[in-house]
Amino acid sequence: MISHTSSQWQSLSWQKILQDAIRTRQELLSALDIDESSFSEACDAPESFPILVPRPFVDRMDKRNPDDPLLRQVLATRAEWTDTLGRADPLEEAKFSPLPGLIHKYANRVLLITAGTCAVNCRYCFRRHTDYQASMMTVSRLEAIHEYIAQNTRIDEVILSGGDPLMLNDSKLGLIINKLDTIKHLRRLRIHTRLPIVIPQRVTPELCQQLIKSRLKTTVVVHANHAREIDAQVSEAARLLRDAGVTVLNQAVLLKGVNDNPNSLVELSQTLFEANILPYYLHTFDPVLGAMHFERDPVEAIEIFKQIQGRLPGYLLPKLVSERPGEHAKTLLAIS
Ligand SMILES: *Cc1c(COP(=O)(O)O)cnc(C)c1O
Ligand code: SF4
Repeated sequence: MISHTSSQWQSLSWQKILQDAIRTRQELLSALDIDESSFSEACDAPESFPILVPRPFVDRMDKRNPDDPLLRQVLATRAEWTDTLGRADPLEEAKFSPLPGLIHKYANRVLLITAGTCAVNCRYCFRRHTDYQASMMTVSRLEAIHEYIAQNTRIDEVILSGGDPLMLNDSKLGLIINKLDTIKHLRRLRIHTRLPIVIPQRVTPELCQQLIKSRLKTTVVVHANHAREIDAQVSEAARLLRDAGVTVLNQAVLLKGVNDNPNSLVELSQTLFEANILPYYLHTFDPVLGAMHFERDPVEAIEIFKQIQGRLPGYLLPKLVSERPGEHAKTLLAIS
């Protein structure tokens, strides 16, 4: 396996970086010079949700630190196997899917499952048990979804989600965007993606051109949970998007052992801002099976949030929200 230094991978394509991503526990720990004996309970990831971490993300982790907040997001632990409290579909998304590949929960915005995979497997992900093959985008599904949105004139925003929509190549993505462009009542396009964080090289000039060309006002919502996930290349990727007229926002999840303290959250907001990204949501953890060890309950979340309120300007304060199945929008938890 080739090991890239930071300067080498700058010249690599995002596809190549993805191909070279770390896919085993041993490889990950050895890249970080961490001994298996640092963990009281060693454990492999389930086959259905293996370890997957691109090297640019690994490069931002501390060497020899088994408690690194970035490492904790991607390294499987014993708790994944012993959890009995979480649920496979905590948000009950299956109930709100009128067509394969489409989730329509909120009146005026729909979510499209555009790609079945991600560039990184986050252990806390609420979609970790989702059967993406069953809802993956195909030409005929896209036709049906187009028809559904065209007939639903209340829908004014489409969110490309997944998996990670930027796992599609630029031409496939272009096809979807061009198709959406033709629906007159649509005003906004949103892309929910972690790729600009874990492989910033994904923000190619071709991608920016696709977004510039679209008639829709576009927002890219990235996903970073800790300030150390943001480096100069992430900042550059966000700048390219901004130069393309795109609003760049971040959503984070409050995760035990990763970012569940005021200092860490304040630093995240400040670092995002310095990297041309505005904080949008801070989600409470969704109780997904196999990841309950990341949970801080909403009451504790509000306590932590109150402590950051006084330390950030209003525009750098994310909205603390929780997702409750059946609600017409996300629930705002701290309004004061
Ligand atoms: C979160 C979410 C949205 C977007 O909600 P916003 O509050 O507009 O960010 C849309 N659809 C689904 C199913 C969601 O979970
Ligand atoms: S990138 Fe997003 S969808 Fe993919 S595993 Fe991570 S949290 Fe889940």
